[in-house]
Amino acid sequence: MDKPRESPVRLGIDLGGTKIAGVALGPDGAVKADHRIAAPRYDYAATLRAIGDMVARLEQDAGARGSVGIGMPGSVSPASGLVQNANSTWLNGKPFARDVETHLGRPVRLANDANCFALSEAVDGAAAGAASVFGVILGTGCGGGLVFNGRLIDGPRSIGGEWGHNPLPWATRDEHPGPHCWCGRHGCMETWVSGPGLEADHERIAGMRLASEEIAARAGNGDAQAQASLDRHAGRLARGLAHVVNIFDPHVIVLGGGLSQLSHLYGVLPDLMAPYIFAERAQVTIKPPRWSDASGVRGAARLWEL
Ligand SMILES: [Zn+2]
Repeated sequence: MDKPRESPVRLGIDLGGTKIAGVALGPDGAVKADHRIAAPRYDYAATLRAIGDMVARLEQDAGARGSVGIGMPGSVSPASGLVQNANSTWLNGKPFARDVETHLGRPVRLANDANCFALSEAVDGAAAGAASVFGVILGTGCGGGLVFNGRLIDGPRSIGGEWGHNPLPWATRDEHPGPHCWCGRHGCMETWVSGPGLEADHERIAGMRLASEEIAARAGNGDAQAQASLDRHAGRLARGLAHVVNIFDPHVIVLGGGLSQLSHLYGVLPDLMAPYIFAERAQVTIKPPRWSDASGVRGAARLWEL
């Protein structure tokens, strides 16, 4: 039997709430196969079967057996071996690593999806060559991953880089205590800077529920209220990022997820962050992702290269 470590093909699977994406990477990082299916929802056994089907399909298309890495929401607790913090809630409390290894008949490496994103962008993406990278997901939620010298920082609780449920720092009086979060706390970064966070903020102030893309489009057309919402969002994101910079001091920050398409962020964030960063040279490099949506699967495939 092939040992995954020596396999020339690395399979990466991105287990999302609504879709499962997979890729087979060759030794040079080239895509040998890719595939995407709808994710079974609220059905744990069907999720395992779908992953098995995905692996079989990728290996058939790539013509080789591969190592398997999986990026997932939440993480597997090193202490209990059970899934924690997944917004695909049917995974929580399940021995997912053990079950998926049994189902596939081989060892599997798992990591949080934001960690996979950060790893992908650090290895051969927007932050290639940078020694320290903070990869940020701004989508329906807010996640993050830390890479230092090409390795994920993932400690005894498997929550390295998870900044989304820290509170908004340097909050003003009217930002306190902040919106209620699904995690049970108030004012988490996620409630302010995720897509739904931006949309809810716009609704609270402007009285209108609009999709993030629509808020950005209206701001581009001169809508003052939409522009004000984008400004508040960028200001809060800047404070949250500056807080992380003061701890980790990354060479590069890469933004991912749907809101990484808000192109104004790359221009305004460095100056908005600077007053909160405890350094003379406070300008931080913020980049859009190279691999966009594909970073999750590419990073998952690379979990066997660590
Ligand atoms: Zn929270």
